[in-house]
Amino acid sequence: MKLSQITSTLSELAIQPTRSLGQNFLHDQNLAEWIVETLGIQEGEPWLEIGPGLGALTEVAQRRSPRGTLIEKDDRIIEYLRERFPGLQVIHGDAARFDVRDLFAQGPLKVLGNLPYYISSQILFNFTREPTPVSAMIFTLQRELAERLAAAPSSKEYGGPTLLIGRRWHVKYLRTLPASVFTPVPQVESAVVLLTPRTDAPACDGARFDRLVKLGFSQRRKQLRKMLAGEIEDWAGATAHLGVPATVRAEELDLAQWIALTNYPEPAGGALPGLAQDVHGERFDVVDEQDRVIGQASRHEVHTRQLLHRAVHIFIFNRAGELFLQRRSRWKDVHPLRWDSSAAGHLNAGDDYDETAGRELTEELGVTAPLTQIGAVPACAGTGWEFVRLYRGEHEGPFRLPPAEIECGEWFTAEQLRRWIAARPEDFATGFLECWRLRAQ
Ligand code: SAM
Repeated sequence: MKLSQITSTLSELAIQPTRSLGQNFLHDQNLAEWIVETLGIQEGEPWLEIGPGLGALTEVAQRRSPRGTLIEKDDRIIEYLRERFPGLQVIHGDAARFDVRDLFAQGPLKVLGNLPYYISSQILFNFTREPTPVSAMIFTLQRELAERLAAAPSSKEYGGPTLLIGRRWHVKYLRTLPASVFTPVPQVESAVVLLTPRTDAPACDGARFDRLVKLGFSQRRKQLRKMLAGEIEDWAGATAHLGVPATVRAEELDLAQWIALTNYPEPAGGALPGLAQDVHGERFDVVDEQDRVIGQASRHEVHTRQLLHRAVHIFIFNRAGELFLQRRSRWKDVHPLRWDSSAAGHLNAGDDYDETAGRELTEELGVTAPLTQIGAVPACAGTGWEFVRLYRGEHEGPFRLPPAEIECGEWFTAEQLRRWIAARPEDFATGFLECWRLRAQ
């Protein structure tokens, strides 16, 4: 949008830009084009804009793909946005509190925004939390915040935000912007950053990583040994393992070293197994079409010859009635990275359904809970030729997820799942879909 268009739109709407909403409107059209171009929205791809304001970025993004969603807090411009962009979904709300889980139903999507500076950190933390369907984000931020996110170890900008966001996202500082590209002109400089999901960081317990980093940087001048005394018993062993002096400070450890510290002395749930799945020599009962045991076979044989066998699925609900789903690990031989029941697993030879359900709950989520059987699915292609018994239980978490088995997990409302499953069944393990249908009957 040109400066003259912004001025005339504001006067037609009879409104003044509000400082408390961080309203500084972009009037450099080349820059708007460059921001949208850099994000690389493809034809037909879903995207979401935070704080569209009068639509400087929106008009450019919409030309690339009509599948856009806007989240704007200012009620004075909602009607204007709906009229100007009738093909887009306009949400009147606070992006810092927006339920990002709603977006899974859209599939992988891109996010952009010239963020309101008073609340940029909260919006960033909301949109970078794990798990997420977001595949890339481009944001204009206050320059200091952008520098902190992209900082290198041992610099004064390096700190908690660098690591808390940097463990899951690559942050690229793209360019500094002069204040003069906005109206009204802000008192600070801005910078544009691009965030893309990080796939090169080793797995670790994310909650523990966040806790150690926050503690470590709570007094950044102090030695880490003192700050983490309650968390890491063998400090000499840990620092030797990392190859750093025992006197090290928080800002001197890079991301890989913080992850190694989180995993010391060994990662939660044990080491990653690699792709070999038959190492345990697992054997399953093979059954006939009435679910009667007729023999035994190895996991490999059962799967390659499509022999009928047995499994349990468990749905864990919290007090709010949300269902916990796990995302299967990338190492799985079947359905890697798909969303699945809270816990699930095969019956080993000689085991029964009830005891396997209890065991799987402990092995996969690290908890115990009373379980009730709520249904059964006969063996079919959807269950991978498994006779499945479905159990339900209640728990509030948190869970200890073994990284070898599970990538991550999340609670979802029934409505979120209903919409997501209808729109993108391919995101789910088929055995879960069979159980979900059973429950919905
Ligand atoms: N994207 C527009 C542009 O570049 O001209 C406007 C950018 S302006 C810096 C920030 C926008 O975010 C404003 O439209 C403001 O009303 C909106 N906003 C402020 N707080 C918000 C929040 N919590 N959630 C969503 N939008 C918010």
